[in-house]
Amino acid sequence: MSEAVPRVVIVGSGFGGLAAAKALRKSNVEVVVIDRQNHHLFQPLLYQVATSVLSPGQIASPIRGIVGKHRNTTVILAEVTGVDAERKRVFVDSVDRAGIAVDYDYLILATGASHSYFGHDEFAPFAPGLKSLADAVSIRNRVLQAFEQAEAEEDPKRHRDLLTFVLVGAGPTGVEMAAALAELVRTALRSEFRRIDPTSARIILVDAGKRVLGTFPETLAAAAMRRLEKLGVEVRLGHGVDHIDADGATVAGECIASKTVIWTAGVAPSPAGKWLEATTDRAGRVRVQPDLTVSGHPEIFVVGDTASLDQDGHPLPGVAQVAMQQGRYAGKLIRRRLKGQAALPPFRYFDKGTMAVVGKGFAVLHSGPVNLSGFVAWMAWAAVHLEFLAQSSLRVSVFVQWVWTYLTGQRGSRLIVNYHESRSFGKPSMDDAASKAVPRPSGLAGGSR
Ligand SMILES: Cc1cc2nc3c(=O)[nH]c(=O)nc-3n(C[C@H](O)[C@H](O)[C@H](O)COP(=O)(O)OP(=O)(O)OC[C@H]3O[C@@H](n4cnc5c(N)ncnc54)[C@H](O)[C@@H]3O)c2cc1C
Repeated sequence: MSEAVPRVVIVGSGFGGLAAAKALRKSNVEVVVIDRQNHHLFQPLLYQVATSVLSPGQIASPIRGIVGKHRNTTVILAEVTGVDAERKRVFVDSVDRAGIAVDYDYLILATGASHSYFGHDEFAPFAPGLKSLADAVSIRNRVLQAFEQAEAEEDPKRHRDLLTFVLVGAGPTGVEMAAALAELVRTALRSEFRRIDPTSARIILVDAGKRVLGTFPETLAAAAMRRLEKLGVEVRLGHGVDHIDADGATVAGECIASKTVIWTAGVAPSPAGKWLEATTDRAGRVRVQPDLTVSGHPEIFVVGDTASLDQDGHPLPGVAQVAMQQGRYAGKLIRRRLKGQAALPPFRYFDKGTMAVVGKGFAVLHSGPVNLSGFVAWMAWAAVHLEFLAQSSLRVSVFVQWVWTYLTGQRGSRLIVNYHESRSFGKPSMDDAASKAVPRPSGLAGGSR
């Protein structure tokens, strides 16, 4: 590729980053996609991995597999740790080196969000969140392990703690997860244990709000609530958790003994705002201009969960559609600028609607004036989720699994797998520190272009 070709660095290959890469695939630019994972993850189905419906490989695809046919695109597996906006470079840590500089002409930050424990990070070891494949597998392990432990436990008093599952946060993820757990214990596990009765497991969903699915219309929230109760989920509203430790959670002064607490409440954006020293909203998301650029830097775009933009007086939600539409917009705008064409009108989110599934054959759907609950909404939910999976092979595999689970109640992946801990990025050893002076790879490093 000629040195004159501008380089667009995209950090993050989630919904926003991939949409941007796709929008640029035929442009005369060099696209460098940097992600700390080698896969694009379909987060809306993470709860199905955590509850054993699907296996990890059914909701994630290798980034190379997705953009492999984009001839102008290079994928780098590395973690971005900072941005030098003045010199137009990002810094990355790869497996064996730290602080490598990567130059850009345009930068698209699409680094998503992580868990927020609302200032109670001490809860984290006892209440894992659900954000990555590793989180989902770890929760699956904990849930299945609890039943195994209870079966092996002679003292029936301990069964209660082991078979009590507390979910904190009754937004879509908490509701979907609670319903899927209820079905797991009442169908798939029901007849397989001898000393314990899996159907006696308690699933408790806690939220400080006054209703479940707080962002949905009241009628749909009420329908979801009725469905949860029918599935045997205990819903505790109006009070958040006061404390979580190894023995369980305290809610409104009551200690709920539980060995499995799952956090599905807050999200915190990536540190992009700190890297850029840019203005952020109260949640820490980067305030972007109407064209998704950062004030004073028309070459830097921030999209998706890590960006903050108001539309008609309300902040845009942290959902996949917003990220995809913003990524596509950023890619298009760069394309037009490079061709010397007129700028696009300000970004405007087109809301196609929101959905949440509440167990087998039941979902709630809100789209403009349409409010639906029940089987038809569930069919729509299934169709939309299949459509947005990244690859056709996943669509087929997930469809077959869902039909099988629907007809038989059997789950796709009920394995307890304790992966050996792999070495993490961003924590250089003494040797790494010494190797900081290693020459940068040609073609990527600052100064080499
Ligand atoms: C459990 C769950 C369920 C959800 N359900 C729904 C739903 O049903 N419908 C819906 O619309 N939305 C849902 N969402 C929200 C939706 O998934 C997000 O809004 C969407 O993923 C945001 O896209 P994004 O591109 O901003 O970030 P992400 O998709 O999160 O992608 C961010 C990418 O950046 C990478 N990254 C982060 N930091 C770095 C770094 N420093 N260096 C390199 N790479 C980095 C990550 O590895 C990741 O690949 C759900 C989210 C979760 C967690």
